[in-house]
Amino acid sequence: MPLAFFQRAVELVERHRRPGQIVEHSIQTNGTLLDDDWCRFFKQHRFLVGLSVDGPRQLHDHYRVDRLGRGTFSRVLQGWRHLRQHGVEFNILCTVHAANQQHGRAVYRFLRDELDARWIQFIPIVERIDTRVMSTDDQDQHLPSTKTRPLYTQSGNLVTRRSVDPAQYGQFLVDVFEEWVRNDVGRVFVQQFDVALEACFGRHLLCVHAPECGYGPALEYNGDLYCCDHYVEPNYLLGNIHRTHMLALVAGERQQAFGQHKRGSLSAKCRQCAVLRWCHGGCPKDRFVPSPDGDADQNYLCPGYARFFSHAQPAMQCMVDLLQRRRAALGVMAWMAQRDSADGPYQVCSCGSGRKFRFCHGERAPTSSFDGVADDQVDGSPAGV
Ligand code: SF4
Ligand code: SF4
Ligand SMILES: [Zn+2]
Repeated sequence: MPLAFFQRAVELVERHRRPGQIVEHSIQTNGTLLDDDWCRFFKQHRFLVGLSVDGPRQLHDHYRVDRLGRGTFSRVLQGWRHLRQHGVEFNILCTVHAANQQHGRAVYRFLRDELDARWIQFIPIVERIDTRVMSTDDQDQHLPSTKTRPLYTQSGNLVTRRSVDPAQYGQFLVDVFEEWVRNDVGRVFVQQFDVALEACFGRHLLCVHAPECGYGPALEYNGDLYCCDHYVEPNYLLGNIHRTHMLALVAGERQQAFGQHKRGSLSAKCRQCAVLRWCHGGCPKDRFVPSPDGDADQNYLCPGYARFFSHAQPAMQCMVDLLQRRRAALGVMAWMAQRDSADGPYQVCSCGSGRKFRFCHGERAPTSSFDGVADDQVDGSPAGV
């Protein structure tokens, strides 16, 4: 969509919003076409821009390629520089997949230190397929064009080779958490960690880990309203807002049933799970693995969720205790430091790597083998604006 489309959209919002009504704009972009005009517009209308970056160049360019198969890292960084120059607020959306799943800490450090990111979301890539699509995926790991392969549907119980490994997704989050909880609490905001902490107080910031679905319907250009943007399929059409008021559709029986299905379809394993209060079985679209009891479909990411939520639990409890005593959650960093020093530098690291703490998440942690943006000369100027 050209800039003019969004300028018109904002004009219409201004014309039709009620007195006193506050409208906040946000947009998700891969950043490759951002320039001064776009960024002036974002700044003027106080957009929050979500920028998709999957880590340092080698990791980002693995799957994020253009139509000619060329990596987009340099162009994304160009867009990032424009955002920074214009003082536009941004957060980073980083997908976790087969190429970067082993490098949680390197990815996090890159986003924090090189891109100066303060708000980060990690999105697990789970591309569910059946055997029909599998044969195409086997031939073509990079999947360059939707024209040459069948469309993905919410069916099958296989995943593409670029999908994240479920257990490794949990380890990725643990690696990030170990870094964050020692250094960055109150300074860098990682969505998954905020979600877990808020859940301790019974608040659910993200539908994926809420007890029920139903709060994010998807509106199509023609007025069709669907249950959720992951279910824009005929069986999930609620109606059309030209014929029925949107509030009536959202409050209607169909959407209620869609929301409650998430809780009602939990497996016995989920219902007895120690981390259910944080996880809630994850998104129904990812529930396609047979459960151990064979009673329901289990979430593909279950091993990762179990690993992360149980690992983070003691530190989360420390933050809860601090907040309940009206103290800042960042006190958890002192608690971690105390624990680390009591355990000593040569204890096995708590992240589960099996390595000694000092050489894993401690003071002699390995530096990244990725070169980050240091060699990036996209506009003739050194990187790191
Ligand atoms: S289906 Fe998934 S994405 Fe949609 S509302 Fe439910 S949890 Fe959220
Ligand atoms: S961790 Fe696994 S078993 Fe536990 S609630 Fe989540 S999906 Fe269910
Ligand atoms: Zn470690």
